[in-house]
Amino acid sequence: MYDVVRQTDPEIAGILEAELGRQRTQLEMIASENFTSRAVLETMGSVLTNKYAEGYPGKRYYGGCVHVDEAEMLAKRRACKLFGADRAMVQPHSGSTANMTAYLAFCKPGDKILGLSLSHGGHLTHGHPVNFSGLFFEAVHYEVEPGHETIDYDKMREQAKRERPRILVGGASAYPRTWDYEAMKSIADEVGAVFIFDMAHIAGLVAGGVHPSPVPFADVVTSTTHKTLRGPRGGVIVCKKEHLKAINKMNFPGIQGGPLMHMIAAKAVCFLECLQPEFKTYAQQTLDNAQVLASALLDKGFKLASGGTDNHLLLVNCKPKGLNGKEMEELLESVSITCNKNTVPFDEESPFVTSGVRLGTPALTTRGMGADEMRKIADIMDRAVASRDDENALVILRGEAEEMGKAFPLYPEF
Ligand SMILES: *Cc1c(COP(=O)(O)O)cnc(C)c1O
Repeated sequence: MYDVVRQTDPEIAGILEAELGRQRTQLEMIASENFTSRAVLETMGSVLTNKYAEGYPGKRYYGGCVHVDEAEMLAKRRACKLFGADRAMVQPHSGSTANMTAYLAFCKPGDKILGLSLSHGGHLTHGHPVNFSGLFFEAVHYEVEPGHETIDYDKMREQAKRERPRILVGGASAYPRTWDYEAMKSIADEVGAVFIFDMAHIAGLVAGGVHPSPVPFADVVTSTTHKTLRGPRGGVIVCKKEHLKAINKMNFPGIQGGPLMHMIAAKAVCFLECLQPEFKTYAQQTLDNAQVLASALLDKGFKLASGGTDNHLLLVNCKPKGLNGKEMEELLESVSITCNKNTVPFDEESPFVTSGVRLGTPALTTRGMGADEMRKIADIMDRAVASRDDENALVILRGEAEEMGKAFPLYPEF
């Protein structure tokens, strides 16, 4: 693998090899990560990267766009089919720029947006003060409720009536429950707001038909393509017909320059893969695995935010086990399980320490793991916590985790 790069740049070739090795060895439980197909990888590494194509199919600012036009049209058609959407815009470089495009298509700097607070599971781009969304707009936030740690839509309605935001944002990076899209649409309508739903995390589950879809309810739906959707790193927007013009215009010339045509073609490949029956099976297994992992962890006395999960991720509150999130992340890394520390609702620790970790099943499910492996992972976690000061015990646990991973080869052809 990487023979050509090695001839030109042995340093980078070494890094690529080492990263492939790491991805193969560790158990990847970062909820936002996944492993793309070889078809997606090959398309990302294609000659389409050489092409400038500012504008949209049939209306470009450059010549020679005949083939990239076809790729972008395919990606758009497939995205619409996959999500049952009126229209799609497939140029966002990332989930963040997709959100920037969606916001600026409907409001001006200084306008008010209402989204889920970061510390309760929302994303930086939902109005956090250090992010463009908090810098450009007047951001206000809803939170989950103490106790059940889910969203109270009556409270959201009261807050929306008080604040009268221009945009109501739904979606999250660390919220393990389903959403009441219908309630959010009615809240948005009642206060004259646009309802934007950011399904970055759950898009693959929605595509696989195992999680309710926001598309029939939201005015605009933004997403990443690289999380549960398992495609190239990038963004996509689907929307009602009447909004496409504003979305297109804000993406280009508003925010981005030339689209990444190799990534757009790879998104088309991803959408085609998601339209296959096998993807439905994958999405269901991802969900089932999260359920099994959740109940196995609860059995072992771990505490989960909201008590469980409806999707592909869980938020584990580590405090009852005597660890903070940072310590748990490091402990799990020492036994070859990769995850990220994460605040839990009403966390008393700082975002650099946190009380929890976020665990997701999308990547391990892609490797073919099922219920038995999830129970084994819960067991390894439990034993790692119990023997966290015993270096020898941790080495044994690491061996067990890596051995289990070896039975599910990643990119065996490479
Ligand atoms: C991951 C994520 C994003 C940002 O995606 P990037 O591609 O990392 O910019 C936006 N919104 C939500 C809810 C996310 O989870």
